[in-house]
Amino acid sequence: MIVIFLGPPGAGKGTQAAYISQKRGIPQLSTGDMLRAAITAGTPVGKKAKAVIDAGELVSDEIVAGIIADRIDEDDCRKGFLLDGFPRTLEQARMLDDIIAFRNRKIDVVLALQVDENALVDRLNSRIQQTKDAGGEVRSDDNVETFRKRLEVYSTQTAPLIPYYRDQGLIADIDGMKPINVVSAQIDSVLDGLS
Ligand code: AMP
Repeated sequence: MIVIFLGPPGAGKGTQAAYISQKRGIPQLSTGDMLRAAITAGTPVGKKAKAVIDAGELVSDEIVAGIIADRIDEDDCRKGFLLDGFPRTLEQARMLDDIIAFRNRKIDVVLALQVDENALVDRLNSRIQQTKDAGGEVRSDDNVETFRKRLEVYSTQTAPLIPYYRDQGLIADIDGMKPINVVSAQIDSVLDGLS
């Protein structure tokens, strides 16, 4: 099962992808997590990505598509995988189509998390607070200014993926404004309907 999570920053993609990953036993592939790991490890990709991420902009299509292409060839992706934060541009979506077709696989569904964008800044502030309360480190791009930039990048570069996938009949609309467990239940019912 190959599932894509689409939605603006703070819509709950990571939370829901983690739930589904655990429940269905397929890995969650988050390009954001992979890039942050590359930054921490000080790899050449990490060095290139740091300033771009801190500015709330997008890392190059080639870099992220390359990371995903390598990752899905690993054994644990044989049964399927969840893409969280990729693709984020039309070019990435086309690259993903090629990557998947080359491996004789297909995308099963694209979950479009619909949220009221005005609520997202409030969610960001709670995420910052919760991280601090738990003694964790707040992401360097989790501040209101960078977040607004990430939202703008989403609207201009990522939102066009919704009509792209809708035309292919792959979109399932999910009401992301509901409580976390209700959103999970909506996703479960979409995924149960696939198999
Ligand atoms: P995320 O953890 O998904 O919110 O991603 C954090 C940041 O990593 C984004 O704001 C981008 O700078 C970068 N990033 C993550 N995924 C991608 C992607 N698919 N394409 C380009 N940049 C990405």
